[in-house]
This record gives sequence, C-alpha cells and structure tokens, in this order.
Amino acid sequence: MNLLYANDRAGVYPQGSWYTASTDLPAPRTPVRGETRAQVCIVGAGYTGLSAALHLAQAGIDVIVLEAHRAGFGASGRNGGQVGLGWNVDQMALEDRLGADTARLLWDMSLEAVGLTRDLAGEDFRPGLLHTDWTRSDLRDSHALAAHMQKVYGKETMVPLDRKALEAYVRSPRYKGGVFMPQGGHLHPLRYALRLAAQAEAAGAVIFEESPVHHIKIGPQPIVQTDKGRVIAQEVLLAGNGYLGGLNRKVASRVMPINNYVVATDPLPDPEAILPSDVAVADSKFVVNYFRRTEDNRLLFGGGESYGYRFPEDIAAKVRRPLEQVFPQLKGIPISHAWGGTLAITMTRLPYFARPEPHLWSASGYSGHGVAMATFAGRVLADAIAGRMNQWDVLAGLPMMRFPGGPAFKSPLLKLAMTWYALRDRLGV
Ligand SMILES: Cc1cc2nc3c(=O)[nH]c(=O)nc-3n(C[C@H](O)[C@H](O)[C@H](O)COP(=O)(O)OP(=O)(O)OC[C@H]3O[C@@H](n4cnc5c(N)ncnc54)[C@H](O)[C@@H]3O)c2cc1C
Repeated sequence: MNLLYANDRAGVYPQGSWYTASTDLPAPRTPVRGETRAQVCIVGAGYTGLSAALHLAQAGIDVIVLEAHRAGFGASGRNGGQVGLGWNVDQMALEDRLGADTARLLWDMSLEAVGLTRDLAGEDFRPGLLHTDWTRSDLRDSHALAAHMQKVYGKETMVPLDRKALEAYVRSPRYKGGVFMPQGGHLHPLRYALRLAAQAEAAGAVIFEESPVHHIKIGPQPIVQTDKGRVIAQEVLLAGNGYLGGLNRKVASRVMPINNYVVATDPLPDPEAILPSDVAVADSKFVVNYFRRTEDNRLLFGGGESYGYRFPEDIAAKVRRPLEQVFPQLKGIPISHAWGGTLAITMTRLPYFARPEPHLWSASGYSGHGVAMATFAGRVLADAIAGRMNQWDVLAGLPMMRFPGGPAFKSPLLKLAMTWYALRDRLGV
C-alpha cells in the first residue's frame, strides 16, 4: 500500500485537521518538470527535508526539495506539537545500552535539537512539557529517573511532581503524579513546517510540490525521477520518514510506519479547569495519550495508534475513548476536528541515520520524538554533506537492526507485539 495516497487526497493538506484550519496556507508551488540539476536533491518536505534544505542553502549549497504533496503535508504538519527533550529511550536505559559517554553525547544533542527548534520556531514556541503517570509503579520509575537526571544532567532537567503538585498543571483524576520538564515545550506543527519552508526558500533552496519521486537511479550522479521531471544531483537525501515506502529497501527494512490520531474539541468553556497552565502533556501509557490547549482554548488530544495502514472510519470516536478516560469531566464534549498521520519507528526506538548507497543519505524513524529530532537531523545531514561528520558519525554508529521478516512481514509481527502492549495498557499492568 502506498502510504502517500492511502489516507489522503493528492496535493491537499488533511481536511479534518485543526492545524489546517488554523493556518494561512501558502499558494501551491509548481511540480518539477523536465530535467534540472542541483548539488543536493532532497526527497520529502517535512522537518527533516526542510531543515536540511535550510542549512544546506545557508552554507551556499544548491539544493532542490521534491515533495509528493505540499510542504508539511506529512507527520510534520499533523503531530502533537510536543517538543520533547531526550530520545524515545530514556537516559538511564541509554547509559546501560550504550555507555555513559555516548548517552551524554546523545543528551547534549537532544538539548541542541530543542534549542535549534526553539530558535527556528520563534514566537510559535511555548515552553513547558509534562510527563504524567497512570500507576504507582510508573510514578516510582519516573521519579527514580528524575532523581538520576538531576544528579547527572542538571537540576533543571526533570522536576518530580506528586499528585497534589500535578494539579497546578493537569486536572485529571487518573494520574498519580508526574515529572515537569521546563526545557521542553510545544508549538503549532504545520505553521512551524511552513515557516521552515519559507526560511529555506529565503536562503536559496527550491521546493517543488506535487512531485512524487518514484525511482532513484544510483550512480556517481544519482538521477531522481518523478512523474513529470527529474533531478540530476551529486547527493540525494531521503527525508520521507513514514511515507517513504519502498523507495530504498535498506531503509524500508529498518523503519516501520505507524499511524496515530489526534482530535480537537470545541473551545472549552473553562479551560483552566482542565489544564490550568499552558504546557504540553504526555502520559506513561504504552499507547501514549498526549494533550495540550490550543491558542483558541480547545483541548487538542492525541492517542490511539493503529497498526493497519488505513485510518479508521471514525477517528473522533477512536480518540474520544482515551480522552474521556483521562478527563471524565469532558464526557460528551463536541469534537470539532479529527485527523490521522503516519510516523515511523525503529526496532531500537532510536532514529536510523544511514548512507544506504553511495551518494544517498537517509534519516528517519524518530519514533514519536521527531519535532525536535527531525529538525536537528536535517542540520546533521547538511553538516555531513558539507564535510562536518562528528555528529553524523555518532548517530550513524548507533546500533540498528532490521524488523524481523524484512519489509513484507514486519507489519503483521509488529501488529501482534503492539496489540499485546496495548492490551497491557488496558489491563493497567
Ligand atoms: C499524529 C502524530 C503525532 C505526533 N506527535 C509528535 C509529538 O507531539 N512530538 C514529536 O516530537 N513527534 C511527534 N510525531 C512525530 C513527528 O511528527 C515526526 O517524527 C516528524 O514530523 C518527522 O518529520 P519528517 O520530515 O522526517 O517526516 P514527515 O513530516 O512525514 O515528512 C515526510 C515528507 O516526505 C514526503 N514524501 C515521502 N515519500 C516521498 C516521495 N517518494 N516523493 C516525494 N515526497 C515524498 C511526504 O509527502 C512528507 O511530506 C507525531 C507524528 C504523528 C503522525
């Protein structure tokens, strides 16, 4: 199934999305036609591709971006907007897996990623991120992590909160407590993607829309082929993440697309009674619930993954269930917007940075931590192409394995495993 078209209309931002509704959309850009040349050709105009384009153009490198639909059409224009610190794997686990030195390098990069995102997003960035815990055992674990983080990485990294202290941020009877991360934050993801696109163009990058790449001929000068045109480049970057499909087999066997869903309610009559402060929240469920207030005081709530590739018929009903579980006081609240998107995960839940063929580069699989990390990955890709390899070498050296069974079987096996963990969520074990 081609995920570029499975759930969406060609060349159109998702219609049910509150982000689409609350953004001044730019006029469509033209598709690429005929033959053109660039030093670097990027496939995909999400945060990865746009940030790479921006940083390459700023370095004086001639760059073309080919986007199948519109800039920010993919996960980058649909996500929860949470700008998290760290990685999908926590620092204690990273220290165990990779050693203290590499874990420290990764932490420092994650701080850089958030700083870069904050700078690029400008006034759109709102500070404050909260993790909340469903069970006492979740709470014990996250407070143990917070104590470790404060000792090793600094006092300001994670502030433990008990149930009472949590009430200053979230009014839900479900949570036992949590951890506050003042350095994290949130933003409007589509506006951020469009801002990156405008900044990249201002720096000299050229973006073509409605230009789906269906083949890349590898060679000393790779040829990137679309329906209507082709780009001959010196280097090609794959930045298609969950939508990339089978364009490169090596990437496809290590990076798995999954869908995730978000709703926005009607404006809340008393927003402070739900979220007294303007922070973004994500909880300890395996199928994570995440939420925050919008600028017009709706509750924006995400949750409910699915491991088939078609979006469910009724996304609002699917997400209403966890929303009302977290906030029983909102039972029956009208849901005005509901949409889905496709992200990508890896076996290790760390991103996959690779050079799958000569002159071909790839970064993807941010495993739900892509707002800051994909922005950062774009800069790391641009640096690497310009010959500054330090951060690339660390990231490309991270251990990575294929999904068992390769591209054909990874989905059924993953579905089985994920369904088991989702069941554990429901049983509260
Ligand atoms: C519902 C949802 C909620 C999320 N919430 C969060 C969150 O709160 N915080 C967080 O950090 N992360 C979150 N994520 C993940 C985050 O959005 C992604 O990791 C990040 O946006 C990835 O950026 P990207 O540029 O690599 O990919 P994308 O933004 O998906 O961009 C890839 C682009 O490539 C294009 N493309 C693909 N193949 C081709 C081709 N062959 N030819 C031309 N173009 C092509 C696609 O059309 C797409 O526009 C969420 C994701 C989803 C779906």
